[in-house]
Amino acid sequence: MSRELSNWQELLDSFTETGVRQGKVSKIHQTRSNNAERIKILLEDEELRVVLLKWMNHQVKRQRSLEAAKCFRETGNRQFSLKDYTACIEMYSQSILSCPVENEVELSLALANRSAALFQLDLFEDCLQDIRVALTKNYPSHLLPKILTRKIKSLRKLGLMEDCQTTLAELKASLMHLQVSEKNKIQSDIKVMLMDDQGNENTQDRDSEFDDRIIPFCGENLSFKGASAALDIRHSVEKSRYVVANRDIMAGETLFVEQPNALVVLPDFQTTRCHHCTRELPLKRYPCLSCGKIWFCSNACRQESSCYHSFECGLDSVLNSVGIAHLGARIVVSYGLETILAFLKDTEKVKKISGIDSSYDTKSYQVMFHLVSHTERMAPDELYQYALTAAFLTLLLEQHTKFFQLASQEDRYLVGGLILVHICQMVSNAHAITEICALDENSERQERIATAIYPSASLMNHSCDPTVINSFQGNTLIVRAIRDVRKGDEVFNCYGPHYRRMRRIERLEMLESQYSFVCTCEHCCDTNTEDFQDVIYSFACPSCNGSLVNPSGSYSPAQFQMTLCRSCKTQQSYFTQLKADLEAVSLDARGTEAMDQGDIMEAIKLLTKCVQLRKRALFKGHPDLGKSADKLAQCYAFIGNYEECEKMLRISLIAVEERYGRYSIEKANELQKFTDVLMELASSRNQDLRDELVRHLEEAMFIYRIHYGAWSHSYKELQRKKIHLTTLLMK
Ligand SMILES: [Zn+2]
Ligand SMILES: [Zn+2]
Ligand SMILES: [Zn+2]
Ligand SMILES: [Zn+2]
Repeated sequence: MSRELSNWQELLDSFTETGVRQGKVSKIHQTRSNNAERIKILLEDEELRVVLLKWMNHQVKRQRSLEAAKCFRETGNRQFSLKDYTACIEMYSQSILSCPVENEVELSLALANRSAALFQLDLFEDCLQDIRVALTKNYPSHLLPKILTRKIKSLRKLGLMEDCQTTLAELKASLMHLQVSEKNKIQSDIKVMLMDDQGNENTQDRDSEFDDRIIPFCGENLSFKGASAALDIRHSVEKSRYVVANRDIMAGETLFVEQPNALVVLPDFQTTRCHHCTRELPLKRYPCLSCGKIWFCSNACRQESSCYHSFECGLDSVLNSVGIAHLGARIVVSYGLETILAFLKDTEKVKKISGIDSSYDTKSYQVMFHLVSHTERMAPDELYQYALTAAFLTLLLEQHTKFFQLASQEDRYLVGGLILVHICQMVSNAHAITEICALDENSERQERIATAIYPSASLMNHSCDPTVINSFQGNTLIVRAIRDVRKGDEVFNCYGPHYRRMRRIERLEMLESQYSFVCTCEHCCDTNTEDFQDVIYSFACPSCNGSLVNPSGSYSPAQFQMTLCRSCKTQQSYFTQLKADLEAVSLDARGTEAMDQGDIMEAIKLLTKCVQLRKRALFKGHPDLGKSADKLAQCYAFIGNYEECEKMLRISLIAVEERYGRYSIEKANELQKFTDVLMELASSRNQDLRDELVRHLEEAMFIYRIHYGAWSHSYKELQRKKIHLTTLLMK
């Protein structure tokens, strides 16, 4: 392995390539059900170990030198003068970390400078802490007045008046060495400072931005944490654990309100989000004072994170490089060595599966241990890569942290084995925490900001036609029913492949390769029914408006080809519809071009013809019909003809509902547009239209609430519309 490998995946691939040839990959795979043994084999492989250590040490550079410390501090000073306090705190922390211990003066300067930045961020306790340490490190005496003045200011902010008096005396004594002019300046500064208002900062810690706390349907389930009391855990040999309804549940009901057991913020968000809770960092933010690289929204989060961050501190770049495996290691580190080893010795707990033999407590390690990992069903090279990553993380903890300080070699392998289990679990149990980000006034997008484990919601099996939809309130996962569920029915999540968005064959392939199972949902099992995509992209039946089966293979010339209607079962001419559609395609293209050039009247002429043709030729759910109707609606809205605009939007609304479903976010977005137009017409039209408008508004609000929550921009927007409408109608 002579080549320098920069990224972890490249290194894994290269290891796997040689590992296959040398039989190491199959050896790891064949070490049945003994994960500790797998880690042992890998870490005792001297050749492997050397490369792993080399790569690790390359990532975790922590060479101390006076030059480096000075350089970091000077960069920090430049950032300080630009008032970039967040950035300079990181630089000063780097300076502190890289300063050789014997260079006390340099160390004290970095600490003092950092205290100035902390003061600017109103972090007075942290500021005092740095000042105290700096003063024990040979801090230059001519600089004392400055740092003591800052100390007094911080003490006053914190209301520690007694300490203030002592420091004031120290400050006065420190002035002795100064020249008269300097002394006078500082003395007048002190006067001003003492006259200043005390200005105690309001220390608002971690207040919730969400005023409405969501409570699950029928209240929380006491033996199934985070789940509604309307749900039970069941178990069978072939399905392992799964979730069923113990009473009838209506669409829209909240089925899970769950806190994550562990989470890792994605690298792109590490400077803007709280490292512990994912909350957007407020102006007053709290750094880790050891690395200065990660930030918290509150002192409480900083303290809670110390159980894992004290081991991860300074290792952020190497941990980021292993991707989702970081979360696997995080679980082990958070629980701590003692808890983990005690658990392994408790054979009862290791055997008993939570939720079946005992209640399901999402905070217990037992629950985490028993989440499905499918380790034995993995492909040999996949398992080999996970095992290598687990071995690497074990080595990292051993070399760069005190995590294994009290552990024997065997214990280290055991823990490494558990890291492997958790990494394997990530494949089927990790959840992306998403947030709705506004793209512009009218649209929102889901952004992935962290990866987390929600042990209760994880017990739901997959279906390509799920019963639920997930959303987040901060890092709390909210799962709501998207349709009615009957008592005794299983509750299904969707792991990604949805029958409306992916073909059966692609879904089955993806689920098999990613989650190692064959989907047995209705849409996957029943191979007699066609793929949803085929139905939606059909031509319309001229007799009944149903959809025509797409003819497969061409046995006869196109113009004579007949095809079956799925609804009335008659034979219809395929060619007539094909011809109309081809003509419509050209009209649509020309209409769009006219639109782009601003010739709205021409666009209306062309698109009207296009929509007429497509209404005849295409099935009502066909996306092309919806799209051209939508474009025409835009043109009509542009010239203020809302009557015609309404007609077109009705067509596209049907198409969107057919394609994406009654409770889809796409339908809600379409309803947004539709209700805007109905609002324009409401004052001039009859009561029926107003009733319809209210109905659509409520429907859209319902969908947004299920998907995004009642705090989302879209939901609130509709709420405002509804209030506006009621005042309008009262006039
Ligand atoms: Zn936080
Ligand atoms: Zn840190
Ligand atoms: Zn399926
Ligand atoms: Zn028909």
